[in-house]
Amino acid sequence: KKHDISCIGCGISIQSENQEELGFAPLSSLEKEEVICQRCFRLKHYNEVQDVSLTDQDFLNILNQLGKTDSLIVKIIDIFDFNGSWLPGLHRFVGKNPILLIGNKADLLPKSAKRNRLIQWMKSQAKELGLQPIDVLLVSATRGIHIREALEQIEEYRKGKDVYVVGCTNVGKSTFINRIIKEVAGGQDVITTSHFPGTTLDMIEIPLDDGKALIDTPGIINHHQMAHYVDKKDLKVITPKKEIKPKVFQLNEEQTLFFGGLARLDYLKGGRRSFVCYMSNEIFIHRTKLENADELYENHVGDMLQPPRKDDLAHFPKLIRHEFMIKEGKTDIVFSGLGWITVNEPGAKIAAYVPKGVNVMIRRSLI
Ligand code: GDP
Repeated sequence: KKHDISCIGCGISIQSENQEELGFAPLSSLEKEEVICQRCFRLKHYNEVQDVSLTDQDFLNILNQLGKTDSLIVKIIDIFDFNGSWLPGLHRFVGKNPILLIGNKADLLPKSAKRNRLIQWMKSQAKELGLQPIDVLLVSATRGIHIREALEQIEEYRKGKDVYVVGCTNVGKSTFINRIIKEVAGGQDVITTSHFPGTTLDMIEIPLDDGKALIDTPGIINHHQMAHYVDKKDLKVITPKKEIKPKVFQLNEEQTLFFGGLARLDYLKGGRRSFVCYMSNEIFIHRTKLENADELYENHVGDMLQPPRKDDLAHFPKLIRHEFMIKEGKTDIVFSGLGWITVNEPGAKIAAYVPKGVNVMIRRSLI
């Protein structure tokens, strides 16, 4: 049962029943004049954000706040995990504010991929997903590629208003903002922590020339990403750090590819054809016959087929099978956070396996 009390930090309705759920505060604290939920309490007193650093509800609260501002919204996505880092529904929350869409980590894509085509692709995907950005840019925050242009575009589109930078965790938002700070302030320490009205979720504010600010908002965790199912060491294996070298496999029907022990692709029907794999160069791809695949996985996940490591197998979810008919040419089969496989010709029946909870989907090919 909810009490009619809200947290002075985040505004959430306070409840005292379930410690694991949002808005919890112990009964004993409800007598106080100002009640604070457990989550805000920890943030306030221990400077500690809980593991699920932002719940979906918190994030929605932030988005709602953005809708009340008069600002430019800069939405950053990870081009390597476009769909996983998308933040669905953003356009419904930001009101009339324009959105500038920035694809980060461009350095990971093969150099042969044409920049203009990638931007066109982002535009058409954005449209399909219901977003009409004012413009679309492609940058690399770590390499500092096209950052200056991005800053110039931000200056142009913000028209003297504040800028809010949004993105889910790990898209490179901090790296991007730190780059911007260097450009704006020449390396001086300009970060000041300020409080968003009505929340204690700290926002980083970078002053701009005209008294306005560029504001970093907390990222939301993308729960459907492979990253959540592997340990830190393995995360290094699956996260590409440099240009991806696509690996091409010519497969016959009823052949299987294993991507370490993290994912699997069964090629079921459609004649001999090629599959182009875009993922971290460090992921071991093993080819086998479909009829042997189940047994091979059973016997070798954790050793030949890793990540995951043997020690982590107990926590690693079972692979779940998803079947797709590839009806159109140039289609990507996307394993959220791990990469994708491009099928160039239409008419292939495949089954894709990912750990339970991880997203798998098909889309028009990026490259
Ligand atoms: P945030 O959670 O969105 O703030 O992301 P971070 O800025 O902490 O970056 C997350 C990870 O992505 C880090 O390992 C960064 O080194 C990496 N990263 C950020 N920008 C880029 C980029 O432009 N290219 C590549 N390859 N990696 C990047």
